[in-house]
Amino acid sequence: MNFNLNFNNIAENYLFAEVANRASAYASSHVGSRVLKLGIGDVTLPLAPEVIKALHAAVDDMSKKETFQGYGPYEGYDFLRESIRGYYKSRGIELALNEIFVSDGAKSDLGNILDIFSTNNVVLVPDPVYPVYVDTNIMAGRKIIYADATAENGFLPMPDSSVHADVIYICSPNNPTGAAYTREALKEWVDYANREGAVILYDAAYECFVRDENLARSIFEVDGARECAIEFCSFSKTAGFTGTRCGYTVIPEQLKKGSCSANKMWLRRQSTKFNGVPYIVQRGAAAVFTEKGQKEIHENLEVYKRNAALIAKAMDELNIWYTGGKNSPYIWLKCPDNMGSWEFFDYLLNNAEVVGTPGAGFGKNGEGFFRLTAFGSEEVTAEAVSRIKKLLKK
Ligand code: PLP
Repeated sequence: MNFNLNFNNIAENYLFAEVANRASAYASSHVGSRVLKLGIGDVTLPLAPEVIKALHAAVDDMSKKETFQGYGPYEGYDFLRESIRGYYKSRGIELALNEIFVSDGAKSDLGNILDIFSTNNVVLVPDPVYPVYVDTNIMAGRKIIYADATAENGFLPMPDSSVHADVIYICSPNNPTGAAYTREALKEWVDYANREGAVILYDAAYECFVRDENLARSIFEVDGARECAIEFCSFSKTAGFTGTRCGYTVIPEQLKKGSCSANKMWLRRQSTKFNGVPYIVQRGAAAVFTEKGQKEIHENLEVYKRNAALIAKAMDELNIWYTGGKNSPYIWLKCPDNMGSWEFFDYLLNNAEVVGTPGAGFGKNGEGFFRLTAFGSEEVTAEAVSRIKKLLKK
């Protein structure tokens, strides 16, 4: 037996494990300290009442012979897929039901989708980036090339026609930088992908944070995307499902090469390795799309958006350069006084007892930058912002 030695090429510690280790080491050596966490991108508000109602009703369904559910469809129940289809339609995007696949979250699908692509593909990943894209490809031994996201391009790299790629990752609004592409900029990526015969893996996990009309919420708002893109989305940040687990992936029927259809291959992959999302969870997810459900989840999203605005305002006051915060729950800031990312992490932890995420953990271009999230409670965010302002005021 041989192990997959590609695992030797990934960092031993997942970034957030290292952040948690340092924060807990500080807390245990400083008894009585109150460390405030604006680090990991986890939500803090409970599920919407409409979702809870649907979850309870679904539990009751499972208690009765007439409504009990066993194995569900691999691709998700039609009641949820119809709701997702309606959600896209309300934004002017027509999808066929068989193009929508329900999953236990975007992270699994982003990793698992690689099953349908050859390991010979060249993968283009922005740097900095959500670490899952990089690590899953390293595990499979794929060649990765990077598109530099920097302060100069507003952390929104554009395609380079002199470089060929087969698989392209785009996350917009972006984790970690909070930067988001306009439709015009995405059109350049779509045209590039179609020219190169490449696929775009488009992560729309934060689409519901987009306020600006010029920014895209789905790659399928762009002409030509149905020929080259797969979109991943999640109820995690939209509706607080990080612990409940549900997401969906859209694979257009037009995404084909020769006799291979991405849609058919994914269904084949899912029916072989995946037995679906729990009925109860899917009922809860469907409630997100009801009129009341939408109103309630938007009330929660407003809290996070207010937190983001509060952090962004503090950066403006402190004269600190940043992206995000306006169409995203993330604020990506330049570390003051040219500090390195981990240096600033320790400085903030030791002097303000605030935890954020060092940009260097997201790629080499993240060095010197730092991510704060708006997913804390309003109280924690306000307190953390006031501590940061006190510490960094010149
Ligand atoms: N994609 C991005 C960009 C994320 O930041 C996250 C979670 O933080 C995910 C996907 C994972 O979403 P899920 O909870 O649906 O697995």
